[in-house]
Amino acid sequence: MAKKFDIVPLSEWGFFTLPRPCTIAGPCSAESEEQVMETARQLKAVGINVFRAGIWKPRTRPGCFEGVGVPGLKWLQRVQSELGMKVCTEVASERHLFECLKHGIDMVWIGARTSANPFLMQELADALTDIDIPVLVKNPVNPDLSLWIGAIERLYNAGVRKLGVIHRGFSSSGEKRLRNAPQWQIALELRSRIPDMPFFCDPSHMAGCKEYIPELSQRAMNIGLDGLMIESHSSPSCALSDASQQLTPAELINLLESLSIRDNDTSDLAYKENMEQLRAQIDEYDTDLIRILSGRMAVSRKMGEYKKMNNVAILQIVRWDSVMERMKQEAVLHDLDPEFVATVWSAIHEASVKEQNQILGK
Ligand code: PEP
Ligand code: MN
Repeated sequence: MAKKFDIVPLSEWGFFTLPRPCTIAGPCSAESEEQVMETARQLKAVGINVFRAGIWKPRTRPGCFEGVGVPGLKWLQRVQSELGMKVCTEVASERHLFECLKHGIDMVWIGARTSANPFLMQELADALTDIDIPVLVKNPVNPDLSLWIGAIERLYNAGVRKLGVIHRGFSSSGEKRLRNAPQWQIALELRSRIPDMPFFCDPSHMAGCKEYIPELSQRAMNIGLDGLMIESHSSPSCALSDASQQLTPAELINLLESLSIRDNDTSDLAYKENMEQLRAQIDEYDTDLIRILSGRMAVSRKMGEYKKMNNVAILQIVRWDSVMERMKQEAVLHDLDPEFVATVWSAIHEASVKEQNQILGK
């Protein structure tokens, strides 16, 4: 995308004390004044300064706890005034936003079900014109980078400059272990298109259960993201929403302390030289890969011609299964992850079938 984004750096938002990770923590939902205050107190005690709590909850099925609504905003005001923390919540409509502004909420985020909806995004963007509070945009539920960028652009065009994103993973029928598949490559692509955009990861909604939160948080740090939004509850087992993925404040601080944070870059000359040599090697391999793929595709096109001449269907399932099986075995022999190799070969196969289809259509 050619568009240049001129975004206020995270260090100037006045919310976070760097270094990374800039952390936003708090319960999935504000449930009661006691639960909000107790959780916030415990978080403050372990050094967290930015508190989250859902006031309006977008639930997949009706009948689940749908949030306490406007009265909960007063509890967030208490967190601000008594504990000196910044507070944020999710907004999905102009009405939510106005209530937040009326109650002096410091920052808002837009949830995954809302960023997927251009009508709601435009409504929010219009309502945010001339309003100077930070806005974080979660990725849409479906893995569609353009939709995510579109949501960002609507806000940017409305003048929002304290703008950031939260990667919380994507709904998928394939991924079983995690609640929402990370698909890190989409986050990386967004990072490379808008490098200055403050970038958070929400490992809680990616994981869906406590167990996987540490590895996902570390992964987010490894790819250089700025911060984490993590769900934390003073008594997770009693939580009215997302009970299995919430950490106690004590567990949260243990997790944060266990993360190893590496610099995004270094000025060390030896490092730079070695890195340049390694990058040159990678470039060579990449060029080889393209040459090999092109040769493979030429053979595949030839096969398309033969299939056409002999009136044979393109897809030969038995043959394809055996190719895939062989590649997975080769992967193991060459120290590669068979799942990774299967993904690459599925893409290669899809492209071959597409080319052969075009030949048969001629
Ligand atoms: C949340 O942060 O509580 C939430 C509902 O998240 P998401 O929009 O990522 O599902
Ligand atoms: Mn939640």
